[in-house]
Amino acid sequence: MDKKLSNFYFWGAGYLLLVVAILPLTASKTGDSEVVITPSKAVPLLCFNVVTSELRTSDTDLGCLSPEESLGTEPISHTDVRPTQIDRTFEVRFLAAQAAAKEAGFKIRITSGFRTQQLQEKLHADAVKKYGSEEEASKWVLPKEISHHTWGTAIDVNYPGDRKADKWLEENGSTYGLCRVYKNEWWHFEPVIAPGEPCPPMMANALESLPVSGKLNS
Ligand SMILES: [Zn+2]
Repeated sequence: MDKKLSNFYFWGAGYLLLVVAILPLTASKTGDSEVVITPSKAVPLLCFNVVTSELRTSDTDLGCLSPEESLGTEPISHTDVRPTQIDRTFEVRFLAAQAAAKEAGFKIRITSGFRTQQLQEKLHADAVKKYGSEEEASKWVLPKEISHHTWGTAIDVNYPGDRKADKWLEENGSTYGLCRVYKNEWWHFEPVIAPGEPCPPMMANALESLPVSGKLNS
């Protein structure tokens, strides 16, 4: 190896070593000036006692104490298994919100929660008659396979009654992980967030919630 080449390797290797040594230092300085090892942070968890209507903040490490029930720390979505009733964590969220609404002077109640596929099929058929087409009907009542009512993850609150109380739920529901999701349905709520997260912007109607907007495969 000639001298020029060995010099090249020597300085090249030296430079590489320098970079390897400095990189971790600069990387750790990008945020705070010193490296702090933080223990795993426990996520706040809301626990509701359905008997006493008491709502308490715990953390996920400690969990809720029986007979408290957890409001969960994630958005609630359904599995592939057909349920026969409303998702229990979703129901507990509603009960916690209902207790808070009462404190604030509002009365909210579920007027339509879990629906069987047979019932949803009938409601959808009625809507097709009323609105004249499958597409128009689905802006209000989705087909039985996809409606979240048949999956236990949607509720209608106070419909067709007290809209003012629903406004309270629309404004305060996010604390309990409940959101109004459609602009055209002031009564329809879903557990699409973790409690305490902001609700996503509302969709125009149920049809917009389908994977391919405006396309129905039934
Ligand atoms: Zn609904």
